[in-house]
Amino acid sequence: SRQVRLRERPVGYPGPETWDVGTVEVPAPGQGELLVAVSHLSLDPAMRGWLNDVRSYVPPVGIGEVMRAGAVGTVVASRHPDFAVGDTVTGTFGVTEYAVTDGEGVVRVDLGLAPAPTWLGALGMPGMTAYFGLLDVGRVRSGDTVLVSGAAGAVGSVAGQIAKALGCTVVGIAGGPEKCAWLTSIGFDAAIDYKSDNVLRRLREVAPDGVDVFFDNVSGDTLDAGLANLSRGARVVICGAISGYNETSLPPGPRRYMSLLVFRASMTGFVVFDYEDRYAEARERIAGWLADGTVVARETVLPGGVDAFPEALLGLYAGVNTGKLVLEVGGQ
Ligand code: NDP
Repeated sequence: SRQVRLRERPVGYPGPETWDVGTVEVPAPGQGELLVAVSHLSLDPAMRGWLNDVRSYVPPVGIGEVMRAGAVGTVVASRHPDFAVGDTVTGTFGVTEYAVTDGEGVVRVDLGLAPAPTWLGALGMPGMTAYFGLLDVGRVRSGDTVLVSGAAGAVGSVAGQIAKALGCTVVGIAGGPEKCAWLTSIGFDAAIDYKSDNVLRRLREVAPDGVDVFFDNVSGDTLDAGLANLSRGARVVICGAISGYNETSLPPGPRRYMSLLVFRASMTGFVVFDYEDRYAEARERIAGWLADGTVVARETVLPGGVDAFPEALLGLYAGVNTGKLVLEVGGQ
């Protein structure tokens, strides 16, 4: 089984020296365990944070450990009562071709409902993040104007489409004309290209009454632009801060935070894992929207297997993906 382990903690962007890529024997499942042949790996911006030796919402990946990753795969051996050989499952299997698990947090997936990559995107953790971030944290209501940054990515594209489904006006911020054109093609009312537009000026044009919910995945200048154009009582949802994940020093604080006072607004961070006991509800609703075409799921699937993980991860920070970034493993 090919697998990727953490060799050393990176400073800045994780280069090849960060990882050990090697081969181990395919493990055998013990009593109560199952063996999964991984077919698709999830690439997540948060992976960069898991490499830092700091206190966070999950412990860091240890030196020498298999890199943590969400994945989809097929059960190839089972000594677990709930899983049978041939089942397709998703779980945190790690960057490995074969994984043994005790079934904790492992969910069976229905490939009749959607293909494997979608189970890592719209029907997976990013979809859950979009759903609870928007509904529970953002308390979105029909008629709201919603701003989403990182809008052409896994979380952002689903968040924007859910907001549309709920009757909102939706503005997305993304990098480049192609991503922006895709956003308007899937129903966003406007898309701002942060690489060529003046974001704040464009935002004031397309959302002249201000933004009621700002779902921020990016932070930095993007957060400041959104803060500068809120409506009264706005909810700013801090989902992520990808612009800073590979920086070696802390960014300046949000320069526009006094907007929270002026607009009687709130800014709230959240971690999707806290909603785990409600994932089934979110999955069912998103699956319904996928089935009737209200939400379009898109994934960028990279080839190359486990060995391509180090480079694929960097792709996230370069924006190579539209929709969810997935690595095809095919170890079955
Ligand atoms: P995406 O699919 O959105 O991929 C990352 C995207 O970020 C890239 O495609 C790129 O798009 C954009 N990007 C990269 N670098 C920058 C930069 N310097 N400035 C602006 N944009 C940049 O990833 P996810 O949907 O998986 O994650 C989105 C965010 O949600 C992340 O911040 C992540 O950490 C967060 N998250 C939070 C969770 C929670 O529980 N709070 C759970 C899951 C995700 P472009 O080409 O447009 O620049």
